Amino acid sequence: MNDKLKRTTILNISYINTNFTHFLKIIQARINNRENTFIATVNPEIAYYAHQNPKYQSIINDADFVTPDGIGIIKAAQIIHQPIQSRITGFDVFKAILAWGSQNHKSAYFAGAKPNVIADLKAVLKDEYPGIKISGIRDGYFQDNQVVADEINATHPDMVFLALGSPKQEEFIHQYRHINNGLWIGLGGSFDVLSGNTQRAPQFWINHHLEWLYRLLKEPSRLPRIMVIPKYLKLVRKSK
Ligand code: UDP
Repeated sequence: MNDKLKRTTILNISYINTNFTHFLKIIQARINNRENTFIATVNPEIAYYAHQNPKYQSIINDADFVTPDGIGIIKAAQIIHQPIQSRITGFDVFKAILAWGSQNHKSAYFAGAKPNVIADLKAVLKDEYPGIKISGIRDGYFQDNQVVADEINATHPDMVFLALGSPKQEEFIHQYRHINNGLWIGLGGSFDVLSGNTQRAPQFWINHHLEWLYRLLKEPSRLPRIMVIPKYLKLVRKSK
């Protein structure tokens, strides 16, 4: 990691501590140079899981960039008195890289989400990001990872977008990233959002750090996942 980016370590995970525009410039340059790049977007739930699972922790530590995705990580940085400049979400990186990739005719492989979501995503990509060359696009409920890896290997895309949820997407990237140089990023539920199947919180909720509450109200089944946030913050306080 000799990219000179400032990093802040919380519970053994080193998050980039920069602004969105600067980060994007670094990623674009790396894609242009076909540098092998793994971005992990980590929220408190993922950080907590990593803390309990050393193998997953080492996978996250293998990423070239870990972005602070979630207000809970920003809060944790304040607790340890090492503030992080900006939250950087997977969804925002995804949209920005697609827009830039469309202008620059980059190729991309997409795997993740349910078949109906992928059908809608194809339409959105065609309409809103017409310059992207789709080297492959499929849902995330495949049985054989190797089949997907072979498709990526054969089509040699500039960017691989995986929306399989955590830890699956990071495990996949860790296992296969060396078959193709370029960007690899795990995007959680981002295909659901970009395709219009799930709504991201309105800006007001995001600005008031309440995106987690909005998601909970829309999807009450997320409660056990949200409950990890206070547990994570407790661990951070203890680690001080
Ligand atoms: N998913 C998938 N394959 C699986 C399990 C999940 O493609 O075997 C997809 C799921 O359809 C959803 C995404 O992974 O699109 C996970 O979304 P979630 O909301 O859990 O992610 P978050 O944004 O909270 O990290």
